[in-house]
Amino acid sequence: MTLRGRLTSAFLVVVLGPVLLGSVFVALTVGAVSRERVTERLDHAETTVGAAVSAICRQLQAAADAVAVVPSENRAAVAAQLVTRGLASAINVSDPGQPITGRVASSEQGKDTVGWKSCMNPPKASPVSEPATAISATAYAQEVTVTAAQRIDAALLDRLSEASGATAAMSGPKDDRAANRDMPAEPGQPLTLTLSVRTGESPFRHAVLPLIVLVTAGLAVLAARWLAHSTTRPLGDLAWAADRVANGDLDTRVPIPRPDELGRLAGTFNRMTRELQSYVQALTASRDQLRRHLAILGDTLSSTHDLDRILPVILRTAMTATGARAGLILLIEPSDGRLAARSGSGLTGDWDLPVAELLQRRLAPGRGILGTVAATGSPLRGTNRGVTRDTNGADPDEPACESYLAVPICAPPAEDADPGPGVLGVLALYDRLGGPGFEDNDLRIVRTFAGQAGVAVHNVRVHEEAQRLSLTDPLTGLWNYRYLREVLRREVERASRFGRMLTVLVLDLDHFKEVNDTYGHTAGDQVLGEFARRIRIGLREVDVAFRQGGEEFVVLLPETDAYGGVIVAERLGAAVREWPIPVDPRRPGLGDRVSISVSIGIAVFPEHGATAQQVLDAADEALYAAKHAGRDTYRLAERVSGIGPEGQLDAARQAPGR
Ligand code: GH3
Ligand code: MG
Ligand code: MG
Repeated sequence: MTLRGRLTSAFLVVVLGPVLLGSVFVALTVGAVSRERVTERLDHAETTVGAAVSAICRQLQAAADAVAVVPSENRAAVAAQLVTRGLASAINVSDPGQPITGRVASSEQGKDTVGWKSCMNPPKASPVSEPATAISATAYAQEVTVTAAQRIDAALLDRLSEASGATAAMSGPKDDRAANRDMPAEPGQPLTLTLSVRTGESPFRHAVLPLIVLVTAGLAVLAARWLAHSTTRPLGDLAWAADRVANGDLDTRVPIPRPDELGRLAGTFNRMTRELQSYVQALTASRDQLRRHLAILGDTLSSTHDLDRILPVILRTAMTATGARAGLILLIEPSDGRLAARSGSGLTGDWDLPVAELLQRRLAPGRGILGTVAATGSPLRGTNRGVTRDTNGADPDEPACESYLAVPICAPPAEDADPGPGVLGVLALYDRLGGPGFEDNDLRIVRTFAGQAGVAVHNVRVHEEAQRLSLTDPLTGLWNYRYLREVLRREVERASRFGRMLTVLVLDLDHFKEVNDTYGHTAGDQVLGEFARRIRIGLREVDVAFRQGGEEFVVLLPETDAYGGVIVAERLGAAVREWPIPVDPRRPGLGDRVSISVSIGIAVFPEHGATAQQVLDAADEALYAAKHAGRDTYRLAERVSGIGPEGQLDAARQAPGR
């Protein structure tokens, strides 16, 4: 049975039970009252009829007495007069002294005294007695007997009925549908009558009451159905909505019909579903965001060796995966072992800096949380709540936070290397949103990202080293010929685009073969190394020096004209000439310092060549000219394009002699 069915039954029992009991009670009460009233009416009718018949008797007796006392000759006339006046319907006079006895009757029936019932001596009730036709009273005077009679007819009975309120009839067959009462004859009332009162069963008991009960029952059923329906409908709605939510439709809401308990239940259900929906949406959004970040991370790792692009992506992905408010990646500077900030996000306070300034931040190794992680290679996790930063072990220079998680960024273990931590830096996350602190799960996730960062940093460093090795000359540390070609092409392009000048110096040590021959190849190498060092010292930061091969070097001077080139050539020439280079002599006695000199050819873009090769060739020719001029000097290339200030060039062409 459904809840609605049970509720309907309960309502019906509660409502219909009292109604039925009440109606039975009412029906019984109404029956008893109506019976009582019938009895009362019969009592009243009996009294009234008895009094009326007695009054008739007294009237007849008076009439009979009146006739009896008058002289015999007048009796007939008086009797006739009394009948005429309606005091009796018939008067009989019996006078033995008078042959003419009279009988005065109002009608023909009055002549027959059969069935006259005397008021004084009512006949004993007898089943064979003749039916009463009149009431009579008799008066006696001497020999005379006067009998006055009142005929019993329908009119008399009607009068009695009217006066009594009941139907008066001579005893006879009874009316079954009425309440009957027999009135026996008695002195003063000679008639045997039957009084009947219509029980007059009111329609109330037989029609109205059942109708009321039926209508009430019908209404009760309707009310029960409506109540059960209105009570169970919200529950049905709730069940339906819960079913839909269980099937994943979180947009489902139930109507709130009234602010009653069910209304509150519906409101709570809606709120619960709404919160579940926003929770799921937040989870979905964070999952999507994490997916996007992982995709970006994959793309970035596979497409670049630029740490400035890789590290921010790793940091953002780690923050998204753990729900951290802020994060920081620091790498250990190979030169001094300090921790250098490489990427930051969401940092506040002292650390809320533009990228360029953030990249300048350095932290001492071994101090605070970050320094400890970098030094030990073990992750640290905790909260700063209720603890000062000092007691917590945090460096006051570190980012302020409520909770932190710092893991080391380690190089992937190499097969042949020792299995030490190989810490490259630290990945730190701050203030996990929606939680008191970072959990074990967060630590596992962040370790994964730190591992990615470690591989990336390691790869980049390996790549940079390989790059450097392939482009530098191992003896002097200067860029090699391969790199010269690339840089020269790039610089010529840039100078051409911006309308700037570029000066190229080609340097060749003089009689270097002799140095080798005299001091040995190793000493020659030392000379080459020292020469390269002096070149580097004598240059600006933007200038680039290359070892072209053997004892030939090239120097590029961006944004420099021929005049500037001459000045540099003179400076370099002097730097070599004036300070002999110390060597370990192979043959003792030759001294431990080698005096050398250098010849330099100078060419300027775009004056001496429109392409990188042309400018380099022009500088080579100028070098040849310098050698030819006796060495330890410089020469400017012959002007080929005609561009450039004449005076400067002419001045520069005046190479000083040795
Ligand atoms: P000049 O240039 O003045 O004409 O005379 P030079 O003796 O320098 O003549 P050249 O340029 O022909 O000789 C270059 C010598 O430099 C030959 C070689 O022994 C020496 N040399 C080249 N590369 C190296 C090197 O890497 N180390 C050493 N020690 N010597 C080198
Ligand atoms: Mg040479
Ligand atoms: Mg030489």
